Amino acid sequence: MLTRRMSSTGDDLSILGFGCMRLPGRNPKIDEPRATAMIRGAIDRGLNYIDTAVPYHAGQSEPFVGRVLQDGYRERVKLATKLPPWKVKTREDMDRILGEQLEKLQTDHIDYYLVHSLNAKSWETMRGLGVTDFLDAALADGRIANAGFSFHGKLRGFQTIVDGYDWKFCQIQYNILDTHRQAGTEGLMYAADKGLGIIVMEPLRGGSLTKSVPPSVQTIWDSGATKRTPAEWALRWVWNHPQVNLILSGMSTEEQVDENIRIAGEATAESLTPEELDILDRATAAYQALERVPCTACGYCMPCPAGVDIPGCFDVLNDLGRFGDRRHSRLMYSFRVGGVTSPKPAYASLCTNCGKCVTACPQEINVPVELLEVRRELEWFLTKPIAWMIKRRFGSS
Ligand code: SF4
Ligand code: SF4
Repeated sequence: MLTRRMSSTGDDLSILGFGCMRLPGRNPKIDEPRATAMIRGAIDRGLNYIDTAVPYHAGQSEPFVGRVLQDGYRERVKLATKLPPWKVKTREDMDRILGEQLEKLQTDHIDYYLVHSLNAKSWETMRGLGVTDFLDAALADGRIANAGFSFHGKLRGFQTIVDGYDWKFCQIQYNILDTHRQAGTEGLMYAADKGLGIIVMEPLRGGSLTKSVPPSVQTIWDSGATKRTPAEWALRWVWNHPQVNLILSGMSTEEQVDENIRIAGEATAESLTPEELDILDRATAAYQALERVPCTACGYCMPCPAGVDIPGCFDVLNDLGRFGDRRHSRLMYSFRVGGVTSPKPAYASLCTNCGKCVTACPQEINVPVELLEVRRELEWFLTKPIAWMIKRRFGSS
């Protein structure tokens, strides 16, 4: 297993971290004997970063990780978990939640403690509630060793958060399709320039890059002189960036653990050849050709007076075009625009056809017309019940 030093913390971290959100079993139930063998086996092979969070497996992941790390395994890893902003109403809640996490994880400190899934708005709220004071206090008394944040939002918000506290690291969604979305490449470089360690999540876009690979993309993967699975191509692309310290992978099977550990033993930074990078560029372009709307998520059309998350709606519609998985896209639509991580729902069907966004869009997208397509493809009678259920799972309702 290769390691890279995170200069902000001085830790030599394995370039593969174990994300404990898709463990084997019938979610939310965890197949504990199997998951224990997978995680301990990975640690025995050099993996030294374990990531969990309150909502994973409906609250069962943290106590499970606490049990897995008994028998001497806790001392062999850096342990990461997260403060869930949607459960925080007061400054006192932060101390209470961290105390509960230490208990569930059977440890006296968290090595890498993140404020979970921040965006510009939730950061503002958490700052107002005193999160920086909380982090300072938890660092000072040793309950946490390093403070960071995970992010799902737009680039500008990301930069604001990076500059808003003395973070040691951040965790961003980054993969061959998200170079211009969320923090993107610009955000990655921005944070790295400021000295933050970089942890990458969703390197396979929630598994989409390995499931139902379009024929046009598979042909390109198959054209390489070295035969690789789509997962290997995608992981090697992320690890090729020297700014990236580690990739988190939510591994569900022994085969995934074996494959990822094998690749993590070889994938040094800047090791891809020009021919390999060309294959990756062509595969990315083939995915882009399947997109339904040429939205770049620039955000110039926002805010919509009716509350529609225009780039969010188009992103899910484009995922449907790329991967053709309607069930998954409808689920993601409920999650992204159903008011789960935002104060209010932001469905396409809220559009009142005022036309404000049309003049603002540099891509000349006829937004209201394309939103009708989003409604037709993604909104169905279970859209709102699914959003309600996800909110309950996240504990925000
Ligand atoms: S046309 Fe629809 S989506 Fe565009 S700004 Fe008006 S209400 Fe919002
Ligand atoms: S202005 Fe156009 S390209 Fe930019 S986010 Fe809005 S719809 Fe997408």
